[in-house]
Amino acid sequence: IPQAPTGFKSGFIGIIGRPNVGKSTLMNELVGQKIAITSPVSQTTRNRLKGILTTETAQLIFVDTPGIHKPHHQLGEVLVKNAKIAIESVDVILFVVDGTVACGPGDRYVAELLINSQTPVILGVNKIDQQPEDAQKIDDSYIQLANNYQWQNVKFSAKTGAELLQLQDLLISHIEPGPFYYPPDLVTDQPERFIMGELIREQILLLTRQEVPHSVAIAIDLVEESPKITRVLATIHVERDSQKGILIGKGGTMLKSIGSQARQQIQKLITGKVYLELFVKVQPKWRHSRVRLAELGYRV
Ligand code: GDP
Ligand code: MG
Repeated sequence: IPQAPTGFKSGFIGIIGRPNVGKSTLMNELVGQKIAITSPVSQTTRNRLKGILTTETAQLIFVDTPGIHKPHHQLGEVLVKNAKIAIESVDVILFVVDGTVACGPGDRYVAELLINSQTPVILGVNKIDQQPEDAQKIDDSYIQLANNYQWQNVKFSAKTGAELLQLQDLLISHIEPGPFYYPPDLVTDQPERFIMGELIREQILLLTRQEVPHSVAIAIDLVEESPKITRVLATIHVERDSQKGILIGKGGTMLKSIGSQARQQIQKLITGKVYLELFVKVQPKWRHSRVRLAELGYRV
């Protein structure tokens, strides 16, 4: 890692907020590459993933956290616990909310988790590209929330990139002089195979419905590179036979669609040809087992 120029600033930014407000979309847009998967399904993000943005004057390391909500099972508890750890170990918290709807109980639950935190908080109102006509009412509800806690607030669109430079400047103004924590050209701390697994999971979230998406975990069993093509073997773990059936589909059509969409995404990631082979395996109750969660790569 090269030495940073004098006056260079660096710091860690925790992106938090309830599910679906656009945290992952924001991180991808800020770092300029799809490293975190996004979808309209809640609980898309499971592991902590860092996104790295290096400008002329600063390095911002974003920590994308799973959306915070009240937990219902073991996986939920692990997710909330990880989010709480993230809150304490960053320099600034960017609390993202959805600007298409007014402040609600989900946002207030997150706000409560921040009360005792020593870390400065910035309230970021996202999705301003899609605000309805009574936008002022919505904005006021968030301004009131920010004022209650004496947080600064900004508005932007992660999707269109509108006002993201202002957001960047504000974040930089909150961090201290520091070194390059990561090489300036790196955009994420995660290995490529982790992102590959996520890109497969993203297609499952997009193409299947209801109880299947939350019950899958992906293991990348093999990545074999050759000059012409990269061969990837992956196993999709599910909890029940019925879910396996849905994933495979009639005559294997569903698995074929998942595979071909995921393959295209992985090709973009590695900028090369990919051969992807998917297997489906039933592993009862993996979400409730800490051992299983750890085996599948979750921090428990
Ligand atoms: P997360 O759960 O907070 O990480 O949310 P995601 O990044 O997965 O986004 C949830 C949904 O909101 C996706 O369908 C995104 O396309 C959408 N979304 C995210 N940011 C914006 C935005 O700025 N404008 C609009 N219109 N949609 C957005
Ligand atoms: Mg996310």
